[in-house]
Amino acid sequence: MAVHTFAGGVHPFGGKKMSRDRAVVTLFPDDGEIVYPLLQHMGKPSIPIVRIGDYVRTGQLIARADGDLSANLHASVSGRVSAIENRQLVGGESSLCIVVESDGLFLEVPYPENRRLSRLTKETVINVIREAGIVGMGGSGIPTAFKLERANTADIDTVIANCVECEPYLTSDYRRILENPWKIINGVMILLTVFPRARGYIAVSDNNTEGYRLLRGLLKNEPRIYVKRMEDKYPQGAERQLIYALTGRTLNAKMLPYDIGCIVHNTDTLVAINQAVIMHEPLITRIVTVSGDGVQSPGNFRIRIGMTYRQILEQAGGLKKGVALEDVLILDGGPMTGSPVRNLDGPATKLTSAIIVLQKKNIRMQKETACTRCGGCADACPNLLVPLFLYEDVQEKRDDAFIAHGGMECCGCGCCSYVCPSKIDLSAAIDGRRHALAADEKKAGDYARRYI
Ligand code: SF4
Ligand code: SF4
Repeated sequence: MAVHTFAGGVHPFGGKKMSRDRAVVTLFPDDGEIVYPLLQHMGKPSIPIVRIGDYVRTGQLIARADGDLSANLHASVSGRVSAIENRQLVGGESSLCIVVESDGLFLEVPYPENRRLSRLTKETVINVIREAGIVGMGGSGIPTAFKLERANTADIDTVIANCVECEPYLTSDYRRILENPWKIINGVMILLTVFPRARGYIAVSDNNTEGYRLLRGLLKNEPRIYVKRMEDKYPQGAERQLIYALTGRTLNAKMLPYDIGCIVHNTDTLVAINQAVIMHEPLITRIVTVSGDGVQSPGNFRIRIGMTYRQILEQAGGLKKGVALEDVLILDGGPMTGSPVRNLDGPATKLTSAIIVLQKKNIRMQKETACTRCGGCADACPNLLVPLFLYEDVQEKRDDAFIAHGGMECCGCGCCSYVCPSKIDLSAAIDGRRHALAADEKKAGDYARRYI
């Protein structure tokens, strides 16, 4: 069976064996504060529709989207709204949040009877997804309804379920495929009802043989959905690399997949689509991988949005015996694209994919030295850029040259930093400059499209 891939990329230590064989465990927040940042998506912060003192139920809308790129926000517990104020998030920055004092009862809003897939229309699906506050849970934070609404039904011939999960240590997709395959398949089927000309592809990493076989077996009589194996390489799950590997089509960072006939959603987003469209459930939970050599019991956990990282880490088994907080580096996300956790009391959001805890003594810290012109960064870049040149453009503050050298095409994958023998953090510099320029529509032009 063919294994699909792209040029470039790297093969970092996977670390997936630590957590992939453990079933997902559901965590419940302790009584007390649950914190909901109003910005858990691309676009403007959502607007609170509750007041201090209001009683809210699990699944109740507490903040409304402010525009197409914004998203609704729902309570993940029942209790009273105790504050609407700035709180510190996990990265250390502050943001306006709704705080609910959980009563520990998890009283739910009443959900109507399940919907039938055969009776769905495109309008119903998009409205339900919008109301449920679903965003790209792989990290993009783009509201899912925004992507579906703009896609021309007649032009879409490919719906891709991105179950590749190429980031080291992360295994939530691996577990989802084994434990809830029908939720993923139903998510794809819902999108195929919206795009009747399309075929569905479920892309699975080559390291997930079990999941691949399971999906193939379940779909053997389903002519519109194909299961595909993708090379176990990073960043195989990045949107551009995934689309190219499956269809041979290319897109640049000015475009969105629907411009070339494709719709791409990751595993958690597809499950959220299924839960919302069929079961009426808004987005209030997600699976988070807690792993690394610094934790006692690596695994995957179904958490409620708004729980603190500290609660999740403690309920997941805590730090490895004999290891203290000052001995570890805690990452929000995986080691390739994650960022350091500066405030463990910050809340998990719709975009929290993993909490990775690494012992500092096992991380080789090497000093940065001068570039040797080895070319390794250019060989590794999956977007065929020359990171060395881009890095020099950033250092010399040459924005025009940075754009001309393709800097806006960087996807922040980190491959260049990973391979650099001189330990230059090219990715942080290039991706940081790209983000800064993307916010400036005059300089970024069409590249700002994904951000405005
Ligand atoms: S330049 Fe950007 S896209 Fe290329 S390897 Fe570096 S981080 Fe990845
Ligand atoms: S990988 Fe590092 S040392 Fe090699 S060319 Fe790129 S920046 Fe220079």
